[in-house]
Amino acid sequence: MTVMSNEEYVESLFAKDLDLIRAIEGIRAQGMPEISIAPGYGRLLTLLVQASGAQNILEIGALGGYSGICLARGLQEKGRLLSLELKQEYADVAYSHIEQAGLGEKVGYRIGDAMDTLPELVDEGARFDFFFIDADKGSYPQYLDYALKLANPGAIIVGDNSFMHGRTMDPSQNSNSVKAVRLFNERMVSDSRLESTILPAYDGLAIARVKAE
Ligand code: MG
Repeated sequence: MTVMSNEEYVESLFAKDLDLIRAIEGIRAQGMPEISIAPGYGRLLTLLVQASGAQNILEIGALGGYSGICLARGLQEKGRLLSLELKQEYADVAYSHIEQAGLGEKVGYRIGDAMDTLPELVDEGARFDFFFIDADKGSYPQYLDYALKLANPGAIIVGDNSFMHGRTMDPSQNSNSVKAVRLFNERMVSDSRLESTILPAYDGLAIARVKAE
């Protein structure tokens, strides 16, 4: 007898989500990496945005818009999502999926290396209530530094792929990206400015709240 995994059991309880299925299929059809956030964490993003009342979200890494749909769904009427994406063609795909989900007016994109765009946002005096980090793993510690600079008090910071499919915990793995994610995880849980947790389902999800004081 085959027993479902924890994740499969949870998925079996939920109705099909046509907007997210369209995004998954579109990403596959475009030949883009099939590395969107896990479905249970997508729903968690929506809940966290709703529960925190975030008005301005910064996403680092749009890919095909799956997480963008989940984030934008949690926004209230005037809420906005700014998504940083390296590749114009990925941002175009992401926008088409978000628009088809009826959320197109909530989202904007900045194209280019986030390590160029993030300092621009600091210079502009931009502030955000919610950050979703899911881009170049080797830059995760720098993304966290910028999130802290750009955060309103009480902001939520979420980072995907805490485990890098097992490489984070494998002592024989020491690439720059693995070392960077280890450092990111350690800082998320030990930085005195943050309250945090790391969820161990799927590929791991680090969640922190920037203390208001
Ligand atoms: Mg990811």
